[in-house]
Amino acid sequence: MEMLHQPIPLQPFTSSWLPANIQAAMLRLDLLHPEISGNKWFKLKYNLEAAREAGQHTILTFGGAWSNHIVATAAACQQAGFHAIGIIRGEAPPPDQLSSTLRLAADYGMELHYISREDYRRKEQTDWHSRFPNCYIIPEGGHNGAGARGCQEILTLAPTLDFTHILCATGTGTTLAGIINSAQADQQVIGISVLKGATSLNETVASLLQPHHAPWTLLHDFHLGGYARTPPLLIQFINNFYQETQIPLDIIYTGKMMHAFRELCLQSYFPAGSRILLIHTGGLQGNLSLDPCVLSF
Ligand SMILES: *Cc1c(COP(=O)(O)O)cnc(C)c1O
Repeated sequence: MEMLHQPIPLQPFTSSWLPANIQAAMLRLDLLHPEISGNKWFKLKYNLEAAREAGQHTILTFGGAWSNHIVATAAACQQAGFHAIGIIRGEAPPPDQLSSTLRLAADYGMELHYISREDYRRKEQTDWHSRFPNCYIIPEGGHNGAGARGCQEILTLAPTLDFTHILCATGTGTTLAGIINSAQADQQVIGISVLKGATSLNETVASLLQPHHAPWTLLHDFHLGGYARTPPLLIQFINNFYQETQIPLDIIYTGKMMHAFRELCLQSYFPAGSRILLIHTGGLQGNLSLDPCVLSF
């Protein structure tokens, strides 16, 4: 499963808050593809390959109304010739009030089915094969070993060996695990959790690691109120950062990662001379959940 994509730039940046003795660059996975953006393609790659090897033609997966994973799966399935079924959390909206994410997924041919929040919580225990026979199930967010394996390829997209630290936003921990598995032993990998109090994530990540992996840590204090919470200070930060660097960030993941990076710089977390690689995991389509004038880009 290969995807034709743009070369991935490694973009150095500076900012008013970046100490002069620290270098920083972003790996712009957001520029991979307009919808199969960022890390989601890497999480899907070996899942789709496994589905093909199993002789399946239909992919079933899960997500909310603004899910990056849903739209990426819809687009990747269309490109790879699979039929896609999306199990969507919450009641079906009137057709004219579909989120832009779901509209796009439907345009890519994804069949959408809505289930209550309660049923959504039980989705891992549900027998989906009796309702949708002959489908290959990809867990929510592409969270499995195949997903982590795909993410091991992220650091090969550009010359990344020279960095001392690698930062990445963390939801399910799949991307972080892939990066930890493929980073060098002298690189420190730092996950920024966007969930509040998700300390069990440490075990989840550990369960996806290979025997030889880079040192890592997961920081839990930078969720800014919890998943999908977007306080004014975050919005202001994202707008300022765009003004300084012309790099757009998303409100759920990469905005919080970059905000955490700023806080860590202000706390002198990084030794002088550190070279920091920040992974832009994409997700910009989710910014359309905001009113149009909130962000400046
Ligand atoms: C899904 C997503 C993440 C989280 O990735 P995990 O592998 O679930 O930790 C990070 N950034 C963006 C933009 C995402 O869409």
